[in-house]
Amino acid sequence: MSDLLIRNADAVVTMNARREELAGADVYLRDGVILAVGHGLARAEAEVIEARGCVVTPGLVNTHHHLYQTLTRAVPGGQDALLFGWLKTLYPIWARFGPEEMFVSAQVGLAELALSGCTLSSDHLYLYPNGARLDDTIAAAGEVGLRFHPTRGAMSIGESAGGLPPDALAEDEAAILDDMIRVVDAFHDQRAGAMIRVGLAPCSPFSVSRELMRDAALLARDKGVMLHTHLAENDEDIAYSLDRFGCRPGQYAEDLGWTGPDVWHAHCVKLVGSEIELFSRSRTGVAHCPCSNCRLGSGIAPVRALRDAGVGVGLAVDGSASNDAGNLIAEARMAMLLQRVALGADAMSAREALEIATLGGARVLGRDDLGRIEPGKRADLAIWDVSGMETAGAWDPVAALVLCGPTRVRHLIVEGRQVVRDGQIVTLDLPRLVERQRALARRLVA
Ligand SMILES: [Zn+2]
Repeated sequence: MSDLLIRNADAVVTMNARREELAGADVYLRDGVILAVGHGLARAEAEVIEARGCVVTPGLVNTHHHLYQTLTRAVPGGQDALLFGWLKTLYPIWARFGPEEMFVSAQVGLAELALSGCTLSSDHLYLYPNGARLDDTIAAAGEVGLRFHPTRGAMSIGESAGGLPPDALAEDEAAILDDMIRVVDAFHDQRAGAMIRVGLAPCSPFSVSRELMRDAALLARDKGVMLHTHLAENDEDIAYSLDRFGCRPGQYAEDLGWTGPDVWHAHCVKLVGSEIELFSRSRTGVAHCPCSNCRLGSGIAPVRALRDAGVGVGLAVDGSASNDAGNLIAEARMAMLLQRVALGADAMSAREALEIATLGGARVLGRDDLGRIEPGKRADLAIWDVSGMETAGAWDPVAALVLCGPTRVRHLIVEGRQVVRDGQIVTLDLPRLVERQRALARRLVA
C-alpha cells in the first residue's frame, strides 16, 4: 500500500490526550496506520490529498444500528407510533426479508454512514428470516470498505410466549447459541487494526429469555467478544422490566452478567442514578441514539450525568426505521442540542459532541487502536470541507462541524484506503445500489 499524505489542513482535530488541534497541519499514513502528525511532512513517495480549506477529524464511530431497516423507512403505520406499537407494525414486513434484502440494505446504510464521516459502524441484526445470515451484512461491509462490528442478535420469545415479536421471527435458543459460535469462529478478529469484530446481542430483555441473556454472556466471555443489547429505552421498557422481572433494567443486566467493559447498551434513556453509578463502577458503555429517541418520543438520555460519572458514551444513528436518516455527524449535533434542551446551553459543547462521536465511540467498542489522530493509531479519518456555504462566516471551523455543517465529508479514509473521494463513494456504484434498494422496497410494498 502506498503512503498517503493529507496536507495543509486548516485544522487537524487530534483527540489526543491534550485534545490538540493543529492549524495548517499534515497527517502522514502508511500501511493503514498513522505514521506522523505535524507540519512539513511531505515526502516524494506519498500520494497527496490537499486539505486546505478542510478540517480533519478521526473517523466517526457508529455504535448502534440495524442496517436492514434502511428498507423500511417512513413506513406509514410506524411513523407516529411509540416503541412497542412501532415494532408490531414492522415485524410482519421484516419477516419477508431474505439474504438479498439484508445485503443491499446494509450497503445503503453503510454508504450513508460513510458519506457522513463514519469509518466504523456496529450493527445489531436480530432477525434471520428466509435464510438471512449475519454473513450477508459482513459481505456488504467488506465491499463498502468500512470497519465493521456486526453483532449476532436474536429473538426467542414470540407472542404466544408473552414476548413482543411474532412467533415466526423467534428462533430456537439452542440454534441461536450455535450460530453465535459459528459467526464468532468464522469472522471475529481480535488483532489491532481488525476490520471485523463480532459481538453477541440478544435483541432486548422483552424478546429473549433470562437463560439466553445469561448464556450469551457466558459465551461472550468464553470467546472474548463483546455484548450488546437495547436497555431502558422508554417508559414501556421500564414497565415491562418491573412487571416481568420485578426489577429495573440495570438490576436485570447486572444479575445476568450484562455489565462490564465488554458490554455496551443502546439507548439507556431511562437510567436512574443508581444505574448510572452501576455503569460507572462496572465500566459498562452506552450507545446514545439522539434522533431515534426523538423520533420514537422516548425521552432525553442522561448523557451529561453519564459522562460526568465517567461512563463511556458513543454516538449512534440507530436503525433507519426509527430515525429515519443515517447521518452520523447530524447525530452529534442532535446529541448536543438535546442536552441543552434538558439542562441549558452550557450542558454540552460542540467539541464534546465531536469527541463522543469519535473517541467516545471507539472506547465504547473497545477500540484503543483508533479514535485519535496520533502516530500508531489506525488511519481512519474524515476530511470535512469547511470552505463552502454552510460554514461561510463561521469563526471556529471545528465547532462549526457540529453547529453549522457540512453534513457530508469531502474525503473518508479507512485503514489508509479512500472510501469517499471528493464527496463520492469510490468503492461501489451508488446509483445502481440505490436503484436496487428501491426495487426491493417496491417488492415489499406490493
Ligand atoms: Zn436499536
